[in-house]
Amino acid sequence: MAMRAELCCYHCGYVAASVREEPGKLPRLIPPATGPGVRVGPNREPRCGRCGGPLYVDDVEAIPDEVAAMPRHAHAAA
Ligand SMILES: [Zn+2]
Repeated sequence: MAMRAELCCYHCGYVAASVREEPGKLPRLIPPATGPGVRVGPNREPRCGRCGGPLYVDDVEAIPDEVAAMPRHAHAAA
């Protein structure tokens, strides 16, 4: 079953990224719709792109396989 979660900032509460993890695949960081996103560097923990604060994982959610397998609407209105 796929999982998704949000990376939130301890300092300002900004949701810097979503994490999507699917069985047999590496977790993917998905940038947010607004704001600077997450700040990553080699050999460093991801940090908040807005204030540089530490991030924590929040809102972990399991995605049932039938939902994860649905085709994405690539041209959906933003
Ligand atoms: Zn922050």
